[in-house]
Amino acid sequence: MKPKDAATAFARGDGSGVNGDMEKILIRLGLRRTIPRLTILEVLAEAGTHLSVLPLHRRVADTFPMVNLSMVYRNVTVMSEHGVLHSVEHGGETLFGLAETPHHHLLCEKCGLLAEVPADRLDPALASVLSGVGFEMDSAGQLLRGRCRRCRHASRDAR
Ligand SMILES: [Zn+2]
Ligand SMILES: [Zn+2]
Repeated sequence: MKPKDAATAFARGDGSGVNGDMEKILIRLGLRRTIPRLTILEVLAEAGTHLSVLPLHRRVADTFPMVNLSMVYRNVTVMSEHGVLHSVEHGGETLFGLAETPHHHLLCEKCGLLAEVPADRLDPALASVLSGVGFEMDSAGQLLRGRCRRCRHASRDAR
């Protein structure tokens, strides 16, 4: 679904499709459904990754030029406080992503690619290791740094 559909479905109010899911998340958490919020969620869902505020604003403004940068800042902050979004720090930037599906992050330090690993696949493996040292890890939002497949192959070829 394209971000501009956010307004259409929003206006329709029938809670259909991806946009309907986003609306339901906001309703469940007691947040008002506003055009900036729904569009931010749509953009992130469509991007399928995490974005910092500047590119996020650029994409939102493609559809709704009246949504300014400070509105995007304000809304990602509120939605992060309510657990709709979460963030990871990379290279001095804060990248925001949808927190609805619990996941951890794989970050390529060479190209900046950020991939998600479902939490239910990683948690059991880590839990058994960490319980040995009496450590309880947060169940989502961890950041694992390394090199992606492409960058690994590129550096091998250069050798
Ligand atoms: Zn994430
Ligand atoms: Zn890479």
